[in-house]
Amino acid sequence: MTSISNRLQDILATIQSVKLAGQHQQPVSLLAVSKAQPAAAIREAYAAGQAMFGENYLQEALDKQTQLTDLNIEWHFIGPIQSNKTQLIAQHFAWVHSIDRLKIAQRLNDARPANLPALQVCIQVNVSHEASKSGVAPDKLAALATAITALPQLKLRGLMAIPEPSHDENKQRVQFKQVRECYDALSAEGFALDTLSIGMSDDYKTAIAQGATIVRIGSAIFGARK
Ligand SMILES: *Cc1c(COP(=O)(O)O)cnc(C)c1O
Repeated sequence: MTSISNRLQDILATIQSVKLAGQHQQPVSLLAVSKAQPAAAIREAYAAGQAMFGENYLQEALDKQTQLTDLNIEWHFIGPIQSNKTQLIAQHFAWVHSIDRLKIAQRLNDARPANLPALQVCIQVNVSHEASKSGVAPDKLAALATAITALPQLKLRGLMAIPEPSHDENKQRVQFKQVRECYDALSAEGFALDTLSIGMSDDYKTAIAQGATIVRIGSAIFGARK
């Protein structure tokens, strides 16, 4: 029987070996994506040493947070953000990966409690050019990054992307490479970035080879979502 703890260990070992085989050898953190998983599964992963968890849906996340207040979890919000959710997100998360418009960034900034450290944020970039997908177009990135840098309660860390799902490794690589190029372009413009949040259960090895520093993995840790 494979437990959450076994799967976590396997994934951490794989992350390490893919990273060492790659060109970048950047630090890579594992974000355990716990959407649709019960608090007990998070508790099990935490007991196995995992402390960073990602959630997509605010109410579901808040419910689990209240059941897990005894744990020292770093909570990351990775789902689409509606304006009316910004206040609670700013109060209850350490990181937000999914900023794709200034209005949301401003509202998170205004709602971030003064007694907490700045909210650590990534801009979500859309490299698959699908109108339906969230994420800012690459040519709008620099303007949004400039505006976010001026917000004192937010700390811009880097970029996040959710490329079109594909089992074709070449397609994965092309898309991650485009995200990487956006990241390099912003860095060259002087933004001090250290986070590239790309890669999920099916494609994290390809993402790490392209320079991912956070991989967001759900089903490979917890099993399929119901
Ligand atoms: C669900 C989700 C993940 C994890 O997906 P898996 O395929 O289960 O690893 C990662 N990132 C985001 C934004 C998600 O919504």
